[in-house]
Amino acid sequence: LRRLDALRLDNRFARLGEAYFSRVTPTPLTNPRLLHANAEVAALLDLDPAAVGEPSFTQVFAGNAPLPGGDPLAMLYAGHQFGVWVPQLGDGRAILLGQVRNARGASWDLQLKGAGQTPYSRFADGRAVLRSSVREYLAGEALHHLGIPTTRALCLIAADDPVRRETMETAAVICRVAPSHVRFGSFEVFYSRGQFERLAPLADHVIDEHFADLSGRPDRHLRWLERITDLTAELIAAWQAVGFCHGVMNTDNMSAVGVTLDFGPYGFIDGFDGHHICNHSDEGGRYAYDNQPRIGHWNCSRLVQACVPLLGETPEAAAELGQSIVDRYPETYSRAMTGRWRAKFGLLDAHDGDEDLMNRFLTLLHRGRSDFTLSFRGLAAVRADDAAIPAALGDQVLDHDALGGWLADYRARLRAQSEDDAGRAARMNRVNPLVVLRNHLAQRVIDDCAQGSTVELERLLASLRRPYEEPAQAAHAAVPPPDARHIAVSCSS
Ligand code: AMP
Ligand code: MG
Ligand code: MG
Repeated sequence: LRRLDALRLDNRFARLGEAYFSRVTPTPLTNPRLLHANAEVAALLDLDPAAVGEPSFTQVFAGNAPLPGGDPLAMLYAGHQFGVWVPQLGDGRAILLGQVRNARGASWDLQLKGAGQTPYSRFADGRAVLRSSVREYLAGEALHHLGIPTTRALCLIAADDPVRRETMETAAVICRVAPSHVRFGSFEVFYSRGQFERLAPLADHVIDEHFADLSGRPDRHLRWLERITDLTAELIAAWQAVGFCHGVMNTDNMSAVGVTLDFGPYGFIDGFDGHHICNHSDEGGRYAYDNQPRIGHWNCSRLVQACVPLLGETPEAAAELGQSIVDRYPETYSRAMTGRWRAKFGLLDAHDGDEDLMNRFLTLLHRGRSDFTLSFRGLAAVRADDAAIPAALGDQVLDHDALGGWLADYRARLRAQSEDDAGRAARMNRVNPLVVLRNHLAQRVIDDCAQGSTVELERLLASLRRPYEEPAQAAHAAVPPPDARHIAVSCSS
């Protein structure tokens, strides 16, 4: 295990050249304090746990001292924001320090988020507030432990610097850790400028680092685009299955390696609404829960369009190949999604009528705004030969007449497969979590952290790390109390 001064960074992204980024220096924070260090992520980096407690750790990851070997830079990108083309964005408050390759050969980007202004900050302050930093820190852990690819964070650091949002808040910074921070928008920026020669080196960087089996192959760009289309479709199916809404699926927030990226006004659905909108700035519901799958498709078509110059000898052939890549998405998504729904309902194989049966349950949840997570969890207690409504389910779905009717069909369907109730329940409890990162739980942690305490943070992390098990804190597996049902989360962060 390496001490901090031995955590040698090698910024291979920086070798692409200055067309892809701007070199920057983090702006120091006032009185930075380490609120939390993530031992699991430290282990990914082969970082000695002892290094985490050292004062130099806080200084380095606050951006107050350089990390030896770091080559800090802000990445350039563009993007479609709420469908509107924005020709230049870039890291306005995030600073890539470099990559660490661990002993298992995996490469990890280290990026400070909230480390001060960059040439891409436009008129904004380059900072992140404590509230949004805590939310991002928690979200990475929540999704990771649900088995969903995501960025995570090495640490969360609070500081005294005031930051103006709707009200005055204070600054914080996280060290985000991801396989890569390259986005769909990283390609779009060069396509839109007609700088097609910049596309291949960037694609090759992503391929060499993360799709090494494709490295050097003549068809590598085509194959990577196919993979990223599939990975994106599968990622969104995984979100849908746990009721996760990203909130800002702009193409600059879509990862070129298929991980969940850029947590802002995200949310896990409490009472089920198929058209749930988690971001209060999203008035049209473009990124509503039920729109996420088709937005993922549209975003992939933006990426592929930007990469068409990589695809063929003639523009016609390239465009045709591009279309064939984009056309993979609906099939990949529907295969992944069907598999996930089936598992959530405990169905072992495909029968006629399954889709209707599953949709009818979702309609029941939607009509009663029943808790998405706890209703699915409650399904495991259904017995194939017993018409009684299990309490765990009946407490969530309150229309017992309608529920009873549906259950009769569900139980008949269960009897058509040869597995005992206990075996099915065990399988279902491995895919239907008991604990998800509900907004009010995150808010409780934020309020506690604002008082300088990390008790609630530690408690919630412990529950999020075992989301399929009964948590030590019963409140982590309960619906929000009535006064906490409508926490508004906006883009402001
Ligand atoms: P987001 O909506 O958080 O994905 O951010 C969209 C763009 O705005 C990105 O280019 C960010 O880097 C930039 N941005 C967001 N917040 C800030 C901020 N406080 N200071 C500078 N740039 C920001
Ligand atoms: Mg972003
Ligand atoms: Mg952001």
